[in-house]
Amino acid sequence: MFDSLSDGLQSAFKSLRGKGKLTEGNMREGLQTVEQAMLEADVNYSVVKDFMEHVTERALGQRVLLSLRPHEELIRIVYDELVSILGPVDTSLHLKKSGCTILMLCGLQGAGKTTTCGKLAQLLLEEKITPTLVAADLQRPAAIEQLHVIGRQLGVPVYSDAGEKDPVKVCQAGVKQAEADGSRVVILDTAGRLAIDKELMAELARIDKRVKPDQVYLVVDGMTGQDAVNSAGAFNKELELDGVVMTKLDGDARGGALLSVKQVTGVPIKFIGTGEHLESLEPFRPEGMASRILQMGDMVAAAREAHRIVDESEREELEEKMASGEMTLDDFKGLMEKVAKPGLMGKMMSLMPGMGQMKDLMQNEDVTGGVKQTIGLINSMTKSERRNPKLIDAPRRARIAAGAGVQAPAVNQLVKQFEQMKPVMQMMAGGNAGDRMQMMRQ
Ligand code: GDP
Repeated sequence: MFDSLSDGLQSAFKSLRGKGKLTEGNMREGLQTVEQAMLEADVNYSVVKDFMEHVTERALGQRVLLSLRPHEELIRIVYDELVSILGPVDTSLHLKKSGCTILMLCGLQGAGKTTTCGKLAQLLLEEKITPTLVAADLQRPAAIEQLHVIGRQLGVPVYSDAGEKDPVKVCQAGVKQAEADGSRVVILDTAGRLAIDKELMAELARIDKRVKPDQVYLVVDGMTGQDAVNSAGAFNKELELDGVVMTKLDGDARGGALLSVKQVTGVPIKFIGTGEHLESLEPFRPEGMASRILQMGDMVAAAREAHRIVDESEREELEEKMASGEMTLDDFKGLMEKVAKPGLMGKMMSLMPGMGQMKDLMQNEDVTGGVKQTIGLINSMTKSERRNPKLIDAPRRARIAAGAGVQAPAVNQLVKQFEQMKPVMQMMAGGNAGDRMQMMRQ
């Protein structure tokens, strides 16, 4: 995510690293690189200007220039300012304690509304809430069927009425149906247009007025850069948005839209879409995002991913093992098999603090091949070695490696990997549903 922005910022920090005490001139050069990275990421000019003013003021202070590790101080300053332009964010869906909460999604065609309806439904299902989806996009002929496909995939009800031409009526009937079914949440998938026009705004304003959604979210395509920011501004004028869902941040989005939207429009990002799959929606956390941009990982996001990899019964078993310290290389083998899906390992690594740099390595690596080797090595160990890898001395190492048909250093590597993966396994076990639970707050 936002690789070129991250690389640009890293090169600014690198230019200052190891310089010891800095002169104002050195620091100004570093700051110029930071500014350039932000502009190249297509961040709105006035946002960059404000951002740089704050960063510069703090970075040129005596405390920073005279500190022993000025580059680390600069990282901290940039982190704080990133968090400040991205937030504060309230990721709660504000579900009502009783009755049905109406969520309305709007946005331009192709932004990802229909997909996001499914993704929100998936998040709710993880909280044991089954929402009703309402197909009120009567502009795009395939949208109704697309929502039905998603509904079938997730096992959630979808209301549609292909004969009805008035989206307000579809929404009203959908809400009625959801209430009759006892749904706690109903999600309205409204129509988009190729560009913002009066007809679209009038249609959405009518739904807003007549159906009275509790929350209105705008879905914008993060790859469209400043266009996404402009459309957020325009929609917000008509609809008083409660938040933005920014999609397609997994693609080659440069980050400009994400970093600008809150400052320019005042509307916070609530969720981010990071893939086409229905699991690829994250509650937006400025701290986690700033940390990811600075390649410092994001433990909360890593915990969410990890939590999803194992099911409930496996989690309990893992939890017990972790608690009693009985985690063995056999368990590790089982988990490696689960994580060894293309892309997943790289994603996990990029979220783990200190492992950002390993991400490219992991993505290029033949994951299945790597896992096969790991399994081969573990299979070649005795039961006691699997239980207690500390037993593995040089002769044992040679025997294990020979058994798996690899060189002895691979055994050390595996044991090291096992240690490194322990925090991930801990997360798979306990997970950290904290930020998801927060979503349900009133
Ligand atoms: P709508 O017209 O706003 O309802 O847009 P759709 O939901 O049909 O999405 C348009 C396209 O964007 C589809 O091909 C989706 O699979 C894709 N899409 C939606 N969200 C994401 C995302 O977060 N990442 C990626 N890579 N693709 C997405």
